[in-house]
Amino acid sequence: MEVAARLGRLRPRLEEAGCDALLVTSLENIRYLTGFTGSAGMLLVAPEVTFFCSDGRYGEQSAEQMAADGVEPTTRAIGRPPEQLQALAEAARPFGRLGVEAHALSWAEKRRLAGVLAENGAGEEIVATEGLVEALRAVKDAGELDRIELAADIADVALAQVKSRLGDGLTEAEFGLELDFEMRRRGADDLSFETIVAAGPNGALPHHRPGARRIEEGDVVVLDFGALVEGYHSDMSRTLTVGRPSSPEMDGIIEAVLVAQRAGVRALGPGVKCADVDAVCRDSLRGAGFGELFVHGTGHGVGLLIHEAPALAVGSADILEEGAVVTVEPGAYLPGVGGARIEDTLVVTATGSRPLTKSTKDTTF
Ligand code: ZN
Ligand code: ZN
Repeated sequence: MEVAARLGRLRPRLEEAGCDALLVTSLENIRYLTGFTGSAGMLLVAPEVTFFCSDGRYGEQSAEQMAADGVEPTTRAIGRPPEQLQALAEAARPFGRLGVEAHALSWAEKRRLAGVLAENGAGEEIVATEGLVEALRAVKDAGELDRIELAADIADVALAQVKSRLGDGLTEAEFGLELDFEMRRRGADDLSFETIVAAGPNGALPHHRPGARRIEEGDVVVLDFGALVEGYHSDMSRTLTVGRPSSPEMDGIIEAVLVAQRAGVRALGPGVKCADVDAVCRDSLRGAGFGELFVHGTGHGVGLLIHEAPALAVGSADILEEGAVVTVEPGAYLPGVGGARIEDTLVVTATGSRPLTKSTKDTTF
């Protein structure tokens, strides 16, 4: 991964965002910009300044990780939280307009920060910014793609390994555990998110938590899961049938979702409006008579967070760029009966896209 170049890409964006310096408080953004993976820290970025602070647990770790990625802060302040805030205020004093990350700073933190800044004659104007680092994160470098692809491969192989167990009369929770264990056994650092196993009528709930329901003959089962590798996520859904679906309308729903998903994937490419990809999937399902059953967005970026920029949804202003990693995951949900969702993680290429998720979309196993 080319971590060291990232701060250089962020600095010119500060002026455009109306700030002289940016206080980065999102831990994913700090990780992206510096390589530091700890659970506490703040980063102040200005054209000539890279100030980093954290607490005593992370003094050595942060120094090692940043050095390994070639990031050299101009100031490092390691200490208790009040000492960090004091050092931050002093570092921020030259900058009249201090940008903060509106989504990653609570009301209480902002008040505390503003108080300490004011005591030190700093932070004359606090500017709320959104998405500055996230916009950089939307385009992945080769090292990031390798990690996401490995995470996607682990999920693919784990599913292939355990899917025959859908016919063994396990509960949703038990099958989920099989899948989770297989991903961990095959090298996942963790799950990407809590695995979804939704059988029969539970499939109509897009984010059903796997429970005590037994997976039975005739069930349509929606699986949504992924692996985590060195901070990077994967995300996939497959819909599998245990024998013939006991609800005859499910065959048509599954087929319509598959057609919509393929159409959405074909629509991907650099310069394409994310809202247009969503519209392709939505129109496809509407044409099949299931438009009302598609109750969520078509997809999202995947990276250091499971859901990140860009958003493939109605009203999104995002544009796909080459190197973006996104999901395409239309679904249809018939309350009381069941649901279907098919989701791949893909990377946008110069000519279209390349799937990182490679599992078959066959519903049988
Ligand atoms: Zn998913
Ligand atoms: Zn997803």
